[in-house]
Amino acid sequence: MIIILKPQAGKADADEILARIESVGLKPLYMPGVERTVLGALGDERLLGRLHLQNHPAVERVDQILAPYKAVSREMHPTDSVVQIGSMRVGGPEIVVVGGPCAVESREAFGKTAAAVKAAGAHGLRGGAFKPRTSPYSFQGLGLEGLEILRDTGRELGLPVITEVVELGDVAAVEAHADAFQVGARNMQNFRLLTALGQAGKPVILKRGMAASVEDLLMAAEYIVSEGNRNVIFCERGIRTFEKGTRNTLDLSAVCQLKRLSHLPVVVDPSHGTGVREYVAPMAFAAIACGADGLLIEVHHEPKEALSDGAQSLYPDQFAALLEKLPAFAAATGRRMADPA
Ligand code: PEP
Ligand code: MN
Repeated sequence: MIIILKPQAGKADADEILARIESVGLKPLYMPGVERTVLGALGDERLLGRLHLQNHPAVERVDQILAPYKAVSREMHPTDSVVQIGSMRVGGPEIVVVGGPCAVESREAFGKTAAAVKAAGAHGLRGGAFKPRTSPYSFQGLGLEGLEILRDTGRELGLPVITEVVELGDVAAVEAHADAFQVGARNMQNFRLLTALGQAGKPVILKRGMAASVEDLLMAAEYIVSEGNRNVIFCERGIRTFEKGTRNTLDLSAVCQLKRLSHLPVVVDPSHGTGVREYVAPMAFAAIACGADGLLIEVHHEPKEALSDGAQSLYPDQFAALLEKLPAFAAATGRRMADPA
């Protein structure tokens, strides 16, 4: 349910109503807006009936949210949410780019790629420390050492860092080292992990599962936001289809759907979305054209030596060329690129 307060209602009215929502066992949400404040009540909606909030003098109306997802729905929060990851703002008028290798392979290798990512004018740095791979015999990541390299390199370059958290037991360590959590496609419906991230203090980039519908993705985000962490960003990274020419089928219509159905930002990963280096730039342009708030791009200083995802990793000069072309696409959609970090 959403409870829309009258324009003259104050913070004290909101606090009183939020306390009453909580007292019947529902989760309260506070969403102050420019013109008026909206409150949310999450849980069994029959409980709200007991409060007769429609009779409260500070309340203008009580509306039901028809979608199965509530806190992430645009009905609950009509304006776009902006999620801050260190110095990077995702979801506002400016578009951001996060670049980096699939995995942190060593301090030296990561430093080289990260320096190139920064020099190209990116806004954030990515790199996996925990790499659950399709094959148990493939490189599995440096773990805690990888997190330390990621944190140190990000600090040296002044770039916020993002890395995947794979397990519940690693949430605290990732939170201590990174500026945002990434939830991988293979974990999108790991509900215990999502719940733990809802209670954590850093933003979450939630990747779409390879066999997940847009509604499944929205419901996964609901797990995080309903626990209190409103800083969630969706990531379209391709789904499995019958097409064999690409690693996945990048579903850019999901961007349009997510922007319509939810207030949360949406980024696109054309690297995993195609698996083919040559297709990354055109799909990145297309993502911006259809309303994405940012891009996650795999870059490697020497892709042919990469321990994972080399075939889809851009060479540093290709990444720099991509960033040079993006402002025109942003401008065509009435937006602009954020200033480099
Ligand atoms: C990654 O970002 O390197 C990754 C493993 O992505 P996904 O979970 O989308 O496969
Ligand atoms: Mn990868």
